[in-house]
Amino acid sequence: MSANIVFIGLGNMGLPMAQNLVKAGFSVSGHDLVRTSVDKLVESGGKTQADSMAAVAEADIVITMLPASKHVESLYLGDAGILARARPGTALIDCSTIAPESARKVAALAREKGFDMLDAPVSGGTNGATAGTLTFMVGGSQDAFAKALPYLEKMGKAIYHAGDSGSGQTVKVCNNMLLGILMIGTSEAIRLGVANGMDPRVLSEVMSKSSGRNWTLEVYNPCPGVMENVPASKDYAGGFGVDLMLKDLGLAVESALATGSAIPLGAAARNLYDIHSKNGAGKLDFSSIYSLLGKAK
Ligand code: NAD
Repeated sequence: MSANIVFIGLGNMGLPMAQNLVKAGFSVSGHDLVRTSVDKLVESGGKTQADSMAAVAEADIVITMLPASKHVESLYLGDAGILARARPGTALIDCSTIAPESARKVAALAREKGFDMLDAPVSGGTNGATAGTLTFMVGGSQDAFAKALPYLEKMGKAIYHAGDSGSGQTVKVCNNMLLGILMIGTSEAIRLGVANGMDPRVLSEVMSKSSGRNWTLEVYNPCPGVMENVPASKDYAGGFGVDLMLKDLGLAVESALATGSAIPLGAAARNLYDIHSKNGAGKLDFSSIYSLLGKAK
């Protein structure tokens, strides 16, 4: 396949996603503010260019995977941004998790310049990004979705068209609010069992086959040593940062305020992640909320 892909944002998620596109045989030019991340993509068969916007000017597809709304807006908008530099007809796909209204704003400005942009946030964590099994929730036109599908399929296995621009982000905000609540609930349950003498491995195994079963128990256990190859067993390094979860819970609170929706548990989860971040855990994986709940007796 000859499509020329530019991938901007090679962090915990973006790097393995871009590597899967390389493995699928695409020409991928990778860009990040962190040089070592770019080097890793080049080592796995990708390429790069000193001037990322010069690469954008030659791209058929631009994919971005950035931390938050402000990064996306500053990269796409403005005189030197992606919308100013990309060729007409270039497919623009933002996979970052950002505010739905920010996604709609960037997509509307893109439309004015003749681009049919998609918001395509993902779920599945860094292991899902590495395995190419992410879930994509996509907002934008049906036509742009159909054109993006062959590329998204190389990075994920469940790919949904959620609706118009911003819909992908709305689904993602709802999902991550639920995920934050589940991670705290799972941590509480394991802490309670351990404090009452249970082996956390036995407890987790039984609960994951019972009605308390959920994704955090099944594939992302927050208790160190219960599961291999998850952040909890690597001193909570890598994975999905506390500050990124705090951002997503903030997006949920904003959406709830805007629509008058009641989210008592989502708001409580945001407050707990806020305290955890202020205690210095912002860069740790979000399953480290387990450590906020104290030491088991
Ligand atoms: P990360 O912080 O590891 O990576 C973001 C990368 O973007 C960094 O390497 C940073 O240097 C780069 N960057 C920022 N501004 C840039 C710019 N102007 N030009 C080039 N590079 C720039 O974050 P992540 O964990 O990879 O998450 C990325 C997005 O995906 C976030 O919106 C997050 O909420 C979402 N997400 C993360 C996970 C997860 O498990 N980590 C899962 C689903 C969704």
